[in-house]
Amino acid sequence: METASLKHAEAAEAFLRDEENADWHNETLWFVRSKRDRAAHSLPEWEQLREQASQIKTHTLSRLDDYLIQLEENAKKNGITVHWAANGDEHNRIVHSILQQHNASKIVKSKSMLTEECHLNPYLIERGIEVIDTDLGERIIQLRNEPPSHIVMPAIHLKKKHIGDLFHQHLGTEAGAEDPQYLTEAARIHLRQKFLMADVAITGVNFAIAETGGFVVCTNEGNADLGAHLAKVHIACMGIEKVIPKAEHLGVFLRLLTRSATGQPITTFSSHFRKPGPGQEMHLVLVDNGRTRQLASPDFRNSLKCIRCGACMNTCPVYRRSGGHSYHTAVAGPIGSILAPNIDMKEYADLPFASTLCGSCSNVCPVKIDIHQQLYKWRQVLGEAGAVESSKKMGMSGMDVLFSHPWLYRFAGRAGRWLMQKFPSLANKPSLNPWAIHRDMPKPPAQSFRDWYAEQNKKTNG
Ligand code: SF4
Repeated sequence: METASLKHAEAAEAFLRDEENADWHNETLWFVRSKRDRAAHSLPEWEQLREQASQIKTHTLSRLDDYLIQLEENAKKNGITVHWAANGDEHNRIVHSILQQHNASKIVKSKSMLTEECHLNPYLIERGIEVIDTDLGERIIQLRNEPPSHIVMPAIHLKKKHIGDLFHQHLGTEAGAEDPQYLTEAARIHLRQKFLMADVAITGVNFAIAETGGFVVCTNEGNADLGAHLAKVHIACMGIEKVIPKAEHLGVFLRLLTRSATGQPITTFSSHFRKPGPGQEMHLVLVDNGRTRQLASPDFRNSLKCIRCGACMNTCPVYRRSGGHSYHTAVAGPIGSILAPNIDMKEYADLPFASTLCGSCSNVCPVKIDIHQQLYKWRQVLGEAGAVESSKKMGMSGMDVLFSHPWLYRFAGRAGRWLMQKFPSLANKPSLNPWAIHRDMPKPPAQSFRDWYAEQNKKTNG
């Protein structure tokens, strides 16, 4: 197998060149993480909720086929047309064929990471369909012709100034205007026209309920409702892992989702769809795209519990410091680095290494996914598959030799301390030591911890 290039590392380096922006990104995400902490700590039953959510998901995954069939049966009884797609291409073809049946050329779309994963927008645009993303953040990045950098806050990498310039160029707002209320109002007016003209509305699905055949879409802007209620046809696209057994389980997930995502007690709109309105048509597209492969793998199955809250991104020191685009996949951050290699091992072999394995992601995950352990496992799988680049492999083999020979470890420590004492300028040269680009190396201690410990022992025991 060919090895992957250092895509994440290179993109992160480019992101970090703008130090001011990188600091701002880091602080903004940390602010969201802090809000999540306050929201979580305000609920005494938080840990019980996480445990319950995790158990519901474990149970559902153990009988996923049964629940999906139950969902299909009940959805059909409600008058929803159900489609099954094995992969992203099939999903796109199904959506396109529904549009063709209705001679639809204008669609509005609410945020759906699944359609990002399947590259639905370019597929439809190539076929002459006007696709308008109606989530404000999604519309911003669509106008910039770039992918989302975060699953919940797709334009979090942009400042007010960027959006002011963009809206001036595309929506005719005043040059230099940065007032969020003014800019949002302009987006509202622009989008309102698109909603009124749309033939078809596409939404994602946050939760589909097997017992009722209905589904729930969570938004803060009400754009999913508006689109689905105004258009004659509503197409809802979901990954097969989004099914939950019963309506009573919704309460557990809805309480966890937005508290984990943004620190809000609940999303502004939790819209329940059960059947098409009078004169309307409703379609539900169930997509596999590698999920059954993930389900069959005991090491990575748990990643299918993900409810896409984004908390693991907000807390991740690597995500905060490298920006979402450096992950070059639809779902960035720690969970994306587990999901992406399952879709294409060669293309995304760099991502499981974009982590410090500090475990903060696993600590905040509302469904208790062992994220950092799965990232560690992916490194082993990629290593065995020969998908790790040779420089990393050589480095790891070198560390293996060093750590398994105590005399060599002692010698290397001594040599390092001597070098740093005698030639401090070498240790602080960025071309020789990338750590020194932003900081000075600390002064080396006169003796190693091992020597100090032996000395203290001798003094104490005589
Ligand atoms: S892995 Fe957990 S924390 Fe990350 S997005 Fe999914 S549910 Fe949220």
